[in-house]
Amino acid sequence: MGCTPEAVANALRDAAAVIAEHRVELINLDRAIGDGDHGENMHRGFQAIVAALDTAVPETPGAVLKVAATSLISKVGGAAGPLYGTAFLRAATAVSNQPELGAAEVVAALRAGLEGVQARGKAVEGDKTMVDALLPAVAAAEKAGGGDVAAVLTAAAEGAAAGAESTVDLVARKGRASYLGRRSAGHLDPGARSTALLLGALAKAAR
Ligand code: ADP
Ligand code: MG
Repeated sequence: MGCTPEAVANALRDAAAVIAEHRVELINLDRAIGDGDHGENMHRGFQAIVAALDTAVPETPGAVLKVAATSLISKVGGAAGPLYGTAFLRAATAVSNQPELGAAEVVAALRAGLEGVQARGKAVEGDKTMVDALLPAVAAAEKAGGGDVAAVLTAAAEGAAAGAESTVDLVARKGRASYLGRRSAGHLDPGARSTALLLGALAKAAR
């Protein structure tokens, strides 16, 4: 048994609630090494996803992920909107028109999301971006791939949380924070933090 479109929609609603709870935290993280809009950007984007899903939940999980992608791309400015939008779009493509998502599809969606972010933003490991949370998340998800969806997403969330923490010591080489050079060290990357929050919310929903 896998995740139905309704389950995916509910997980995204939970993610929107978590982003709303952490809006100020994300604003403050971005204020330290960026321009302070990340919390507002993410909140606006996820509220747009909730509004779209309240109108109608599409008939496949992939179509739900595509609604998330288009909401983020159309409603969120800055670097993160298009990057997360691309991640959801690639994830949607990866699961095609499967009626439900099992562990293998979730692993494939996560890997495709990471590849989309890297194709679009060109960040690699250690650049102090959301990639530093996504890479260990995907690695952990692939390792847990034999389990169920909850196990895969829980592993991904743990990987993302550890990866996000690892950005504190890094000097930013991509995005706005890179303008600060070495002064960007000593701060958690806001996009890595939001990735960890999102995967944490999705994992909790799956459990
Ligand atoms: P902006 O930087 O345009 O104000 P946000 O504040 O919403 O956009 O998002 C900032 C986050 O985007 C950063 O913390 C970082 O994680 C992520 N980011 C920025 N540039 C890139 C990139 N090239 N690749 C991956 N992630 C990036
Ligand atoms: Mg910003």
